[in-house]
Amino acid sequence: REQNAAYLLETADIERVLCSRAPDSHKGTHGTIAVVSGSRDMIGAPLMTCRGAMRAGAGKIFLRVPEQTASYCIGKLPEIMVRGIGSGSEFSENDVFQILEEAKKWTVIAIGPGMGKNSKTKTFIQEVIRNTTCPIVIDADALNLIHSEKEFISPYGKRIIMTPHLAEFSRLSGVSIAEVKKDVIEAAKHFVHEWNVTLVLKGAPTVIVSSDAQTVYVNPTGNAGMAAGGMGDVLTGMIAAFAAHDGMPDLCAAACSGVFIHGAAGDYCYNKYGPYGYSPCEVADAIPRVIKALE
Ligand code: AMP
Ligand code: MG
Repeated sequence: REQNAAYLLETADIERVLCSRAPDSHKGTHGTIAVVSGSRDMIGAPLMTCRGAMRAGAGKIFLRVPEQTASYCIGKLPEIMVRGIGSGSEFSENDVFQILEEAKKWTVIAIGPGMGKNSKTKTFIQEVIRNTTCPIVIDADALNLIHSEKEFISPYGKRIIMTPHLAEFSRLSGVSIAEVKKDVIEAAKHFVHEWNVTLVLKGAPTVIVSSDAQTVYVNPTGNAGMAAGGMGDVLTGMIAAFAAHDGMPDLCAAACSGVFIHGAAGDYCYNKYGPYGYSPCEVADAIPRVIKALE
């Protein structure tokens, strides 16, 4: 067997794990997602994450943003529940206590999009990880903030999914983008050996590695029209929603489902518009019909 053998995802793989919904299911069985994200300068990102989670079928979505940004978010997506945390425009370590009580009710946390680069926010992220027990999808600024914390993260790796693009991955791993590109699969596996997380290394194509570093999946869906700000934020919400689905086998299956359907939703937009100018929100809104086409 080839050392760096990887498995190319197929529609049938996703159909198997994204099973049909029980007729008596309720919003509790469909998972409670918390999107803990945002800062004064980037408040669209967490909203796109919420939209991805909503369109991927999450039962309930709580958005927790820094207090000074909350009024902007309220009503932008009437389906979600918004609350401002702390008193600032970025999260800081003192804010963590305000979410720990309600965190017991969350099925999955998505953290990172638009969080900013304040070092106080780094401590906040670490305290959220330390004081919760549910799966956490870590993306974007949260990845940049914790890039030097391999020793801190790895004991929690079994319940963490990281979703870096190449530049974020380069920062996390300390390996240059050029070096990573020489053998993406090897770089991804090596990273998972050290960090013990489920890894979604985004690109063309995206590669997914299970947290035991034993299985590598390559995603066949997606197109260059998806190279636009906000696309990754939608994916983060989708993966969180799938990880929270009743019956999802594990975090790796959730990551593969999210990546595959995200790309397929992008391909739906490509077929409709061509490769120019379709938006992350349109990709999110295409998710239900892509899932319907699976059945
Ligand atoms: P981000 O950079 O975090 O916004 O994430 C971008 C998303 O769009 C990832 O899921 C990428 O896999 C996807 N994407 C970006 N560019 C391409 C491309 N040229 N082909 C396919 N997918 C892409
Ligand atoms: Mg991103």
